[in-house]
Amino acid sequence: MNNLAYIALGTNMGDRYKNLVDAIHLLKEETGIFLVKSSSIYDTVPVGYTEQDDFLNMVIMVRTTLTPHDLLEVCLRIEKELGRKREIKWGPRIIDLDILLYNQENIEAENLIVPHPRMQERAFVLAPLLEIDSSIKLSNQKKSLKDYFNMNADKEGVRIWKQKNGEDVFALFEN
Ligand code: ADP
Ligand code: MG
Repeated sequence: MNNLAYIALGTNMGDRYKNLVDAIHLLKEETGIFLVKSSSIYDTVPVGYTEQDDFLNMVIMVRTTLTPHDLLEVCLRIEKELGRKREIKWGPRIIDLDILLYNQENIEAENLIVPHPRMQERAFVLAPLLEIDSSIKLSNQKKSLKDYFNMNADKEGVRIWKQKNGEDVFALFEN
């Protein structure tokens, strides 16, 4: 149970809020995955492929007995269960579940790269991640993620959508 992982959630199709809630419920139902913390929800302007609707993004911290590969398998299965189809790369999606960090491990397998590549360039990942732990650092880098966030150009497009505190809806996420 001593593995700590951060998972990024993103959605820009259908009922985006429901997609986040459903994904978190399904993750919590898995044996060996325990939700520890969740960030606020952010409304974000798409980056890369910009001809698509705005996203909701958030990050959760989990404790898990699963290996990184088993955790990835669960994430991909839940994406499928919620109806995700892979069409355009970086295009619209019902739900995207990415493993950002798994302990301090560096993994470079064909189907799994951790820390998630490019996370330090993405304000829509860094803002919710830093909300959970503002002192977080990647093991192979000098700069903290906060430094990366402060250098980041696309922070303008990232706004809090639902504040974590004072909103009953968050009771859904936490035990
Ligand atoms: P993206 O998240 O980059 O938009 P997809 O969600 O379509 O793309 O994922 C494509 C593949 O990325 C997955 O099938 C998975 O094997 C691989 N992948 C590599 N590293 C990770 C990671 N850290 N978290 C989630 N998926 C990953
Ligand atoms: Mg993904």
